[in-house]
Amino acid sequence: MHPFSFSKVSDTREALDAGRRGGRYIAGGTTLVDLMRETVERPDTLVDISALPLREVRVTERGGLRIGALASAQLRNMATIGGNIMQRTRCTYFRDVSADCNKREPGSGCAALEGVNRTHAILGTSDDCVATHPSDVAVAFAALEARVQLLGPDGERHAPFADFLLRPGSTPNREQALRQGELITAVEIPALPRPLKSGYLKVRDRQSYEFALTSAAVALHVRGGVIRDAYVAAGGVGTVPWKLPAVEQHMVGKRPSESLWEAAAARAADGARPLQHNRFKVELLQRTVERQLRIVGGTK
Ligand code: SF4
Repeated sequence: MHPFSFSKVSDTREALDAGRRGGRYIAGGTTLVDLMRETVERPDTLVDISALPLREVRVTERGGLRIGALASAQLRNMATIGGNIMQRTRCTYFRDVSADCNKREPGSGCAALEGVNRTHAILGTSDDCVATHPSDVAVAFAALEARVQLLGPDGERHAPFADFLLRPGSTPNREQALRQGELITAVEIPALPRPLKSGYLKVRDRQSYEFALTSAAVALHVRGGVIRDAYVAAGGVGTVPWKLPAVEQHMVGKRPSESLWEAAAARAADGARPLQHNRFKVELLQRTVERQLRIVGGTK
């Protein structure tokens, strides 16, 4: 493993100072430590932020939900919300330092384009990278139009979730719209219309310890028998969590029905560019979205 220095900070000012000097933030470390062992990541300085007061989950004054960046479900006593969003792709070529990978080594090429690309993305890809973003919770954040709260040397700012994670384009090594030394402090979900029924469906090769082949986060606000608002995003298929506005717009103002779910879900893969081994994801995505619309919409 590449040698590195390690320091623990106890307040955000200390963290920002260390970040400004080039320190790399670490909390749970569930992704970063793995990547350091494999020498994919070689930071010189790690700054442990796990003691910062960023674990609170609370309802905001405007009725939304604010989730501290270090919040963690009880079962997962290491991983954090901030780390989950920041986790790096599971592309096997990215994790194999002998393979060409533009994300790890800009300009080296992309072994996945002509390699085994069954689990790779069909949406938001570029000629330089076709890796998926692996997070589940980020799919829900994208669907619910969350925003990321950031603290940096220049103060606090908010970024719409949709703008925070970057599509690869010609710079797949740049994955988030983060400025030097900035720290994620929270994710805020806005106040959404009530009642709101929601759920997440994940399709994967095996039942546990597996990433999504496809997934769908759906929330529907139905009043007077009519869908007033719809929030839909997909995972496992995009280079970033993939919001599905065409699916949403098709449902708004209509009554829930089997035929509506089918017609809306047919739009889920609009613009898809499948690779040699992942053509099956186009239909699987449509069927995943349709099934989750049916579950949340309650017509089954
Ligand atoms: Fe690297 Fe992206 Fe290609 Fe995977 S898909 S090998 S992460 S450039």
